[in-house]
Amino acid sequence: METQKLVALTFDDGPSNITEQVLDILEEEGIVGTFFLIGQNVTPDKKPTMERQLRLGCEICNHSFTHNPMNEMSPEVIREEIAKTSAIIRETVGIETKFFRPPYIALSDTMYDNIDMPFICGHDSRDWDASTSAQDRIDRVLAQVTDGSLVLMHDMQNNVKTLEALPVIIHELRDKGFSFVTTSQIFEAKGINPHVPHKLWSNVFA
Ligand SMILES: [Zn+2]
Repeated sequence: METQKLVALTFDDGPSNITEQVLDILEEEGIVGTFFLIGQNVTPDKKPTMERQLRLGCEICNHSFTHNPMNEMSPEVIREEIAKTSAIIRETVGIETKFFRPPYIALSDTMYDNIDMPFICGHDSRDWDASTSAQDRIDRVLAQVTDGSLVLMHDMQNNVKTLEALPVIIHELRDKGFSFVTTSQIFEAKGINPHVPHKLWSNVFA
């Protein structure tokens, strides 16, 4: 049986003013990624971008509605953050989100008990910090990725250094023999059930 090395590139905090450029890169490379959207960023003008994400085979997931840290929130507020985001994505492009990434990876048992989706972290490129150079972002990703890894990057507003780093990351990983899949696909392809209680995933084997 073939053992293909797989990686899932994921992008948080969009849709933004750089999301179309991330999609340009993915399309040019002929690969897919996963986008964890902030519900309040899903404005009517972003619908074409989200439709393009799905057309290219990318996955859209849930990154809360307000992007406030959720670890001190009550069950009611947590449920509202998730439901509002799922609803606006459903209303905009007609899909159900299947995975959740906690804002700032801030966690609580209350969150695990009230969010009915697997929690995704991923290897941190530190690209949320504007002072992290493009080369640093590349080096951090390449140092951490193994078969089954999820990579955490950001298509947040004006994050141009990630646009610089991304093609290099893709080429280097491809040279190492990796193929690129979505978050749903990496679990499916490796035969791993992501629905494990109180589990934060950065690699499907870890
Ligand atoms: Zn975020």
